[in-house]
Amino acid sequence: MNRFLLTLSICSVVFTSCERPTPPKIEVSGLDLHHDIHWSYDGPTGPSHWGELNPEWILAKSGKKQSPINLSKSSQTTDLPILTADYQATPLNLTNNGHTIVQSYSEGSSASISGNSYQLAQFHFHHTSEHTVDGNYFDMECHLVHKNEEGNLLVVGVLIKAGKENEFLKQFWSDLPQEEGKSSTATLQINVEDLLPDDLSYYHYQGSLTTPPCTEGVQWYVLSDPIEASVGQIAAFSAIFPKNNRPVQNLFDRKVVTNDE
Ligand SMILES: [Zn+2]
Repeated sequence: MNRFLLTLSICSVVFTSCERPTPPKIEVSGLDLHHDIHWSYDGPTGPSHWGELNPEWILAKSGKKQSPINLSKSSQTTDLPILTADYQATPLNLTNNGHTIVQSYSEGSSASISGNSYQLAQFHFHHTSEHTVDGNYFDMECHLVHKNEEGNLLVVGVLIKAGKENEFLKQFWSDLPQEEGKSSTATLQINVEDLLPDDLSYYHYQGSLTTPPCTEGVQWYVLSDPIEASVGQIAAFSAIFPKNNRPVQNLFDRKVVTNDE
């Protein structure tokens, strides 16, 4: 949908329903629309307070299927379906939404598992990683957010560690919008398939969005093979977002499974 029209229609709904004096913010990162309640990654609006900032975010405090979590290499290995990705190129369209840099994705790209297809809507980054493996953080994590026709979410997580320069990121990393609300667009076409490791083995569990409203029912597939980015590339992102990762959450009675061998 035309983004300008979308903004207008949302404004009109909010003004009539609760007469807020300031226009609402479109939360691109979580795919959910909410009012302009400020949240952050530290202090009085940080992760330990998210559940108290808005009644609609109560799951951040009381949910039993929250993300991210610690993953373990000794997770139960079972015969799991193969995750496949069919991603096409999309025009560069980066936005700094105040919480991360998000690249929106045009229609026609999808990930599939067990014959179920999920359309890729956007990808974005966290520094440091949100998921840990055996208690260890990675330098960054990329989330590829997908949605199926019923509105169910599937997120593919790609762990990023310091190493060689990443050729995919290099295409647009010098164009990262530095300030909240700024965007970078270009006719340049990028294909996030070029970011993925060759092997799509994964850790899988049932979780949530890692940003408010922390909605549950999200299928997580965190790829077990990390990819690399240079120290300079990681520093370029952390200069904008020194810390935009939610702490790991309690697993409660969930199981993490993997097809990594
Ligand atoms: Zn994320």
